[in-house]
Amino acid sequence: MLELAKEQIAMGQTAADKAAALRLLADRLVADGLVAQGYLQGLQDREAQGSTFLGQGIAIPHGTPQTRDLVYATGVRLLQFPDGVDWGDGQMVYLAIGIAARSDEHLRLLQLLTRALGETDLAEALRRASSAEALLKLLQGAPQELALDAQLVGLNLPVEDFDELAWRGARLLQRADCVDSGFAAVLQQVEPLPLGEGLWWLHSERQVRQPGLAFITPQQPLRYRDQPLNGLFCLASLGAAHQALLERLCEVLIEGRGQMLYQATSSRAVLEVLGGEAPADWPSARIVLANPHGLHARPAKVLAQLAKGFEGEIRVRLVDSAQPAVSVKSLSKLLSLGARRGQALELVAEPGIAADALPVLLAAIEQGLGEEVEPLPQSAEPVASVAAQVLQAPAAGSRVQGVGAAPGIASGPAHVCVEREFDYPLRGESCAEERQKLRQALATVHSELQTLVQRSDKAIGEIFVTHQEMLADPALTDDAEQRLAQGESAAAAWMAVIDAAARQQEALHDALLAERAADLRDIGRRVLAQLCGVHAQAEPEQPYVLVMTEVGPSDVARLDPNRVAGIVTAQGGATAHSAIVARALGIPAVVGAGAAILLLEAGTPLLLDGQRGVVSVAPPEDELQRALAERDAREQRLQAAWANRFEPAVTRDGHAVEVFANIGEGSGIAKVVEQGAEGVGLLRTELIFMAHTQAPDVATQEAEYRRVLDGLDGRPLVVRTLDVGGDKPLPYWPINAEENPFLGVRGIRLTLQRPHVMEDQLRALLRAADQRPLRIMFPMVGQVHEWREARAMVERLRAEIPVADLQLGIMVEVPSAALLAAQLAREVDFFSIGTNDLTQYTLAIDRGHPSLSAQADGLHPAVLSLIDMTVRAAHAHGKWVGVCGELAADPQAVPVLLGLDVDELSVSARSIAEVKALVRQADHQTARALAREALQQDSAAAVRALVERY
Ligand code: PEP
Ligand code: MG
Repeated sequence: MLELAKEQIAMGQTAADKAAALRLLADRLVADGLVAQGYLQGLQDREAQGSTFLGQGIAIPHGTPQTRDLVYATGVRLLQFPDGVDWGDGQMVYLAIGIAARSDEHLRLLQLLTRALGETDLAEALRRASSAEALLKLLQGAPQELALDAQLVGLNLPVEDFDELAWRGARLLQRADCVDSGFAAVLQQVEPLPLGEGLWWLHSERQVRQPGLAFITPQQPLRYRDQPLNGLFCLASLGAAHQALLERLCEVLIEGRGQMLYQATSSRAVLEVLGGEAPADWPSARIVLANPHGLHARPAKVLAQLAKGFEGEIRVRLVDSAQPAVSVKSLSKLLSLGARRGQALELVAEPGIAADALPVLLAAIEQGLGEEVEPLPQSAEPVASVAAQVLQAPAAGSRVQGVGAAPGIASGPAHVCVEREFDYPLRGESCAEERQKLRQALATVHSELQTLVQRSDKAIGEIFVTHQEMLADPALTDDAEQRLAQGESAAAAWMAVIDAAARQQEALHDALLAERAADLRDIGRRVLAQLCGVHAQAEPEQPYVLVMTEVGPSDVARLDPNRVAGIVTAQGGATAHSAIVARALGIPAVVGAGAAILLLEAGTPLLLDGQRGVVSVAPPEDELQRALAERDAREQRLQAAWANRFEPAVTRDGHAVEVFANIGEGSGIAKVVEQGAEGVGLLRTELIFMAHTQAPDVATQEAEYRRVLDGLDGRPLVVRTLDVGGDKPLPYWPINAEENPFLGVRGIRLTLQRPHVMEDQLRALLRAADQRPLRIMFPMVGQVHEWREARAMVERLRAEIPVADLQLGIMVEVPSAALLAAQLAREVDFFSIGTNDLTQYTLAIDRGHPSLSAQADGLHPAVLSLIDMTVRAAHAHGKWVGVCGELAADPQAVPVLLGLDVDELSVSARSIAEVKALVRQADHQTARALAREALQQDSAAAVRALVERY
């Protein structure tokens, strides 16, 4: 890494001109062993391409890509020229910093230097510096920028007095790395300054690492020293970094706009007032930087100069960084971004100039800002995060490739549902009027929720009942009333109260409370939409294609399934929530179609193929007709499959496979049998636990399991013991938040830590079994000892509660279980492969990851190998293997799983008839050949292509 040190500095140099200065520098770099002879040519060529003058009397000569091979070691050498050297155009250089770098390490140096390139006049000081130490100090000790961003704003904090507020301010500064831990104590000793309008100011220079300003407001109106306490600024002061901010703040206070700060409902609103962030509604555009060495001095200079041609503000920030946006017109600020090739920039411009400025700047960046750029490699990332162009809706006639999530063909107008930003005034017209508005909005939302309760099934209906209760919570309405009395608008008061309540829950880092916070925000937005007169877009009259970012179960409850012909989501993969929900409902779905899909005009005709994962936008008539004909043919096939749903699934050459159902609760068991299930292959018992407000006791569980066994009427029941923890919290079972819940305490790990829960469950299962076939399996087993401990628990209870037909097995969903299948197969009665998790852990892709989960395809040959290994090990010991992940219902996967000799497929009830029909169409020997070939492929896509050819 490039850092500055006094040993690198040569003071008091002289050079007649720039060429002589470059020679001196090159000699120095060569003499110190950083570069080979010949590097001088690189320095000269670089200057010929464009001056490396940086401003403030500094130039940063460096080589070209062609001379990069001449660099032995990365480093810098600094030459001071007290008499100055003309670097062209009369720009005098007093300090030349020669850089030897093989790649873009020098960006780090530029970032460091930008601290020196602030507002003060550095050139003269550099010229006069009399020692290397003094020069270094000038470069490093120049004013640092004041940190002021969203993480330094804390609104509506539940504090009781001034001291507590000051303590919270100090905590924010500490978290932003601006101060040391003793800063809170320092602030206690400082005399607070009232600024007026109930705003207060505290500042200190002690224990400060870098300058920063925190702004915090109390949740309840407070008083301090007989004056209102509406908000507090805590400044970690260093030099003059806060000067500009202080001036802005004075202006705000003189103009009587202080309430815009303490009544702000978002940190963004505060930052807008203080000038820390561009207003949310300024037009913006994103582009990926393609310059080989990032945004270094030369291209940055071109960009700044171009921006200066527009009268008005233009800012830029790195999309994947927490740093605030900086002015595009400031070279030093641009360099302070340290932007590298491949990073996305977001440009934001004042509305008055945006239409002219943004396209010009984007085009210039795209063309390399005076440098030659190689195109960036195509990325699998969604367009929103790294696209090289501004997002645009897919054009008519285009096809968007996503992930096929629920088979079937659907067409209809697009019904695009995306969360939107609301604008609302902070101050109300009159307290009485605002109160009336709020009451009206609450009543309307209450009755909307009532409609949803009636439309939803029991479990989801309960969510909306909870929402109704929240709406009526007097704590929320009382707080809102108080704010209305202070003159806030209904919308501002309501959102401030919701935000504060939600933050309070979130701050406690408890999974249950975090869910409550999400519920609060949900009802918050519903009421806000009412207050702002924004009504959810009307559903089209005819069956439509729902387009959303992601679909969760509660979204589905809001839909009328008879009117949703298909679902397209911007995010998600085949095992994500949205996909599972869509499959369960039998609605064709394509997920992970990318963010641009959300820009479609409402009503755009869409055609989607949920098998191939393709969405056609405004397709030509002939394509539409072909697809609809295919849909009709599929309908007919499904009808035929439905007629034969009770027939066994036997291949053409006589190989039988059992087709079971995955279920989550007992009440629908009769319907599941009616759909052709030969048994239940996965009872997800956590859903039974989740349906209760506290852990169901043994008797309650026994009744539930009995109901399933009764409904199965002698057919086998495979039950999975409680699979919660990590990302699947149980509301009444507090689990510590984990950095990485998928790799944390979940499944069997959790239940073994809390054996009484598992014992109760096992007891209930054994009692419910009677003479009926019961199979119990344990989730997330990754170690043999976990299985043994769980088995021992069952054996102990079995001595107490005898059962006639019991098998014990494990789910294979952690790669180690598959790799240990040979050892485990000696001891278990069966394996059930959970391909959803097995794929996630094998490919190291979070199954719910917004962009990557599309690649989490269970037909990946690595996953198939683990399945193959498991089946072989099991069969060698005479044990059976089922597959209960989503892969089992994927029409392209069925022949492959058949060919891998899986004995049972467990799928959602809706897919049973189709899966049975697919097995009947297949030939086992052909499927085995297909499976062997699939194992040899190098990607999931290659396996899918192979299946298509078979
Ligand atoms: C699986 O992981 O494949 C599985 C069936 O379990 P779940 O989807 O419930 O995690
Ligand atoms: Mg699983």
